[in-house]
Amino acid sequence: MDVALDRLGRPLRDLRISVTDRCNFRCRYCMPREEFGKGHDFLPKNEILTYEEIRNFVKACKPLGLRKVRITGGEPLLRQDIHHLVRQLSSMEMEVALTTNGSLLENNAANLAQSGLSRVTISLDAIDQEVHSKITDSKVPVTDILDGISAATRYELGPVKVNCVVQRGVNEHQIPKLVRKFRGTGVIVRFIEFMDVGSTNGWTQGQVVPTSEIIDFLSSEFDLTPLARKSASDVASRWAHSDGSGEIGFISSVSQPFCGDCVRARLSSDGKFFTCLFTTMGHDMSALIRSGGGTEGLTQSIEEVWSARKDRYSEERSSDAISLPRVEMSYIGG
Ligand code: SAM
Ligand code: SF4
Ligand code: SF4
Repeated sequence: MDVALDRLGRPLRDLRISVTDRCNFRCRYCMPREEFGKGHDFLPKNEILTYEEIRNFVKACKPLGLRKVRITGGEPLLRQDIHHLVRQLSSMEMEVALTTNGSLLENNAANLAQSGLSRVTISLDAIDQEVHSKITDSKVPVTDILDGISAATRYELGPVKVNCVVQRGVNEHQIPKLVRKFRGTGVIVRFIEFMDVGSTNGWTQGQVVPTSEIIDFLSSEFDLTPLARKSASDVASRWAHSDGSGEIGFISSVSQPFCGDCVRARLSSDGKFFTCLFTTMGHDMSALIRSGGGTEGLTQSIEEVWSARKDRYSEERSSDAISLPRVEMSYIGG
């Protein structure tokens, strides 16, 4: 079968798989406790795809050109024996990556590496405990996450990346601390512009710190040189310390949108297929995924959805083209 192209000529190369909508953190910008507290209806267990069902979905995407999957959530390491899924997917000649908040990584790193995980990305918005606790609304020690990052490096789940979502007035002062902390360690820190995902985080444009401002700020302390992007679909712009002591990155989803090269789809943990992070509704594939038998019918349905795709929300954001409620990042997978 030919590689599937959407209406803007973009192939389906990368699938983010949310394996759970639950999390042990309550980051204010993702799962504010008022909305995701005791009264919140998380997905019932019987609606969550099994590892076998996820494997079948990935198998169905493969003939369409899929090359890479990223396991995410919610917090993916809350899902029992997640390394079993990693093993199933990595045995399909697929690059398998994982994004985690790092709190449970230290004890999982060995199993993940032995099961064929290629790379891990850890979210860490602050080094200072007080700031971290406030952002994540949790009591998890930052040292647990740093131990998780060290374990990922030790087990060669790299290049290990640390993602920091920057919010004005919340954690800008953590930016140079993070750069200093990981300089010379091989870990790549990336700063992400706070996005208007979902409908619960109260996003305003004023909370976004544009990449250009961060680079100006960092240039007063660090001597940074721009590097070429590795590929057109690489979402981060890359910069290197001029003395060779490492690399940092920037994901400018708000100030410099990259929809033109967006080759990513998402699968929620209950089997809905999303062609953009900012959609209101997904395409329910759960019945087809669970129908048993071969994957041809599923491949055909995925191709139909992908061929009709024309999403470019981040490029249209400023035109206020979309004001409908949007799905939450913790459900659709970051
Ligand atoms: N729980 C895991 C974690 O935090 O890494 C995986 C899921 S989380 C939804 C994936 C990524 O989305 C995290 O790096 C998080 O910081 C990011 N994220 C969540 N809400 C965001 C927002 N409004 N803007 C930018 N990034 C966001
Ligand atoms: Fe949980 Fe990740 Fe969302 Fe934070 S960003 S609440 S760790 S899913
Ligand atoms: Fe891709 Fe949608 Fe984000 Fe644009 S807004 S980069 S199409 S996920």
